Amino acid sequence: MANDVPDAEPFSEKLRVPEALTFDDVLLRPMESHVEPDDADVSTRVSTNVALNTPVLSAAMDTVTEGGMAIGMARQGGLGVLHRNMTIDEMVVEIERVKRADELIIRRENVVTASPDQTVREVDAMMEREGVSGAPVVDDNDTVLGIISGTDIRPYLEVGESDEVRKAMTDEVITAPEDVTARDALELMYDHKIERVPIVDDADRLVGLVTMQGILQRREHENAARDAAGRLRCGVAVGPFEDDRAVAADEAGADVLFIDCAHAHNRNVIDSAREICELVDADVVVGNVGTPEAAAAVVDFADGIKVGIGPGSICTTRVVTGAGMPQITAVAGVADVASEHDVPVIADGGIRYSGDAIKAIAAGADAVMLGSYFAGTDEAPGRVITMNGKKYKQYRGMGSVGAMRSGGGERYLKDTDEGEEFVPEGVEAATPYKGTLESELHQLVGGMKSGMGYVGAETIPAFKERARFVRVSAAGQTEGHPHDVMITDEAPNYSPGE
Ligand code: 5GP
Repeated sequence: MANDVPDAEPFSEKLRVPEALTFDDVLLRPMESHVEPDDADVSTRVSTNVALNTPVLSAAMDTVTEGGMAIGMARQGGLGVLHRNMTIDEMVVEIERVKRADELIIRRENVVTASPDQTVREVDAMMEREGVSGAPVVDDNDTVLGIISGTDIRPYLEVGESDEVRKAMTDEVITAPEDVTARDALELMYDHKIERVPIVDDADRLVGLVTMQGILQRREHENAARDAAGRLRCGVAVGPFEDDRAVAADEAGADVLFIDCAHAHNRNVIDSAREICELVDADVVVGNVGTPEAAAAVVDFADGIKVGIGPGSICTTRVVTGAGMPQITAVAGVADVASEHDVPVIADGGIRYSGDAIKAIAAGADAVMLGSYFAGTDEAPGRVITMNGKKYKQYRGMGSVGAMRSGGGERYLKDTDEGEEFVPEGVEAATPYKGTLESELHQLVGGMKSGMGYVGAETIPAFKERARFVRVSAAGQTEGHPHDVMITDEAPNYSPGE
């Protein structure tokens, strides 16, 4: 009887729903290739005006990114985004730390100087205390009179400990103007067999110092992400309503501000983010979003769009609120809109392996942001803890009870009255200690470049264009991990169940 055959249509229109995919649901389709992974060029843009040499960002979380991490990320060509669970003053100090780290010219206020009428003994003690091996000698007007170094005064052969510096210093001092390049400074140093060159203005007043040590250090980081003045790039998270923080970050030299919001597709957030864009010179990335509609609402003013509603490893948004968007679908939907306006997209959260990172780029992202991947490195804040003989570092969601209690997590806060319990959207956890950021990034970027090799694309834009996905069954996923063996030695880029 025909009537007994169940209808194949959904019971209700409500159940006619689109499918949303995440990292494990897809794989890159291998394609003919003439690209060797080593030749892949991973340079990219994180926002309309800011280029990176490595398409990777460290998350704005208080267990991931402060100045040390941001310095490490920028030196490797990526970008660290400072968290905002700190006061504005503390944030300014951290930005300045990053901006100063590899600066060619050490600025006047940070240069240790001597005065001509100090004694040799006093200057020797001062240099020891400050950890420098030489100092320009300046008068009360900051005019450079000479330079004094350890070799001038030790072992006190020709000068006595109580002699004045003016007697011991070298007074034929080689200086350079403010627009000196690293190459010019190095040439002066070689020609005159000196290790430091005071930088002076037109009136011979000291404005800074270039040292051989500083130049050599910069050379070690040829791939670094630098601003127009050669300083390391720095990203900063600001709340959608934190105009003061945004302006202070901009004035302190931040390159990119990240509007840090769990759900940016909200009229008040968008209005306020638009205002912040007008207040600052830095680029402003708006996020997080997870749908093409949200992207369309911000694409006309944002310099970049950050994607991720609930994919994070420490995040409980999807289970607590019932809302979210699996990350590959979210990125692809946002990228379709953003690419029409030439606005870069950042895939934020959920990346466990290098394969996930390059899949996010295949879906349309220009760069990826990771938290848990970096939280176990030396550069992340916090100390190493040992549990059952294994080493860990703390890693917590910014919407966890702990982060909210210590002043952060505003991104996830409802209007909680004083004393009322938080409704967290994240957990507090520990992540295995991993050693240096450099080696973690090497594995991450190395795997991404190999992915580009499998697809046959030499640059990030070409890869985004060319990459195609296949859908993977549950059995296909199992097949993709090591199986039917017992792993005896841990690989540097894989651990089961990560
Ligand atoms: P992970 O790389 O660890 O998978 O994800 C890091 C990302 O998770 C962060 O960049 C941020 O977007 C997101 N995130 C950080 N803390 C929380 C939280 O407490 N709740 C939620 N929903 N997301 C979080």
